[in-house]
Amino acid sequence: MTASSNHGGALVLFSGGQDSTTCVAWALQRYARVETVGFDYGQRHAIELTVRPQVLAGLRALNEGWDTRLGADHMIDLAVLGQISDTALTSDAEIAMQANGLPNTFVPGRNLLFLTLAAALAYRRGLDVLVGGMCETDYSGYPDCREETMRAMETALKLGMASGIAIETPLMWLDKGQTWALAESLGGASLVELVRTQTHTCYLGERGALHDWGYGCGQCPACELRARGYGAYRAGDTAGG
Ligand code: ZN
Repeated sequence: MTASSNHGGALVLFSGGQDSTTCVAWALQRYARVETVGFDYGQRHAIELTVRPQVLAGLRALNEGWDTRLGADHMIDLAVLGQISDTALTSDAEIAMQANGLPNTFVPGRNLLFLTLAAALAYRRGLDVLVGGMCETDYSGYPDCREETMRAMETALKLGMASGIAIETPLMWLDKGQTWALAESLGGASLVELVRTQTHTCYLGERGALHDWGYGCGQCPACELRARGYGAYRAGDTAGG
């Protein structure tokens, strides 16, 4: 069996956050076999890596079919990314806007590396779809979250690995409110509750108090986006774009 000769299933880039958890549920509704991969790159919000097993166990408990389809979870040590980057996500630096218009939480090349390594893993595991939570609607302007970057990356991986690997980004054109609504459509109120109480988004790794939108400092850009999206979702304001 070669990696490219069949519909082998999906590998989801899974950090333990709201977006990637929703992507796992999305993949479980579509593919017979779903595996997950996480990257440890010395991120200051490493807590998101510790919530991953709980989130996966929660997804299994929600739905018998999901339990059957959900396969191995892989963890890749990417400490090298912390060695070559100096960003607010990999150090204690204050989160701030840079002169080039990008916040210093941007880790150059991160998603490109993630996708390359995920594709190599998928090749070995006989999986032919990569699923990621990249989003161009409600994002911080990260250039490696853009649809155009994803299509170029898919082309590079197809050529470079001589495989039929595809990149799916179900959240690309959704805002955060719509991402909460997507979770509800995939797994009902219980999936929304799992995302709210188990997933981690906060850049600072804060997990003290449970707010109505989940855990987090409430101040960093990731918390602000998550809280605003949850507010829009609860208000039923998720039909537009
Ligand atoms: Zn935060």
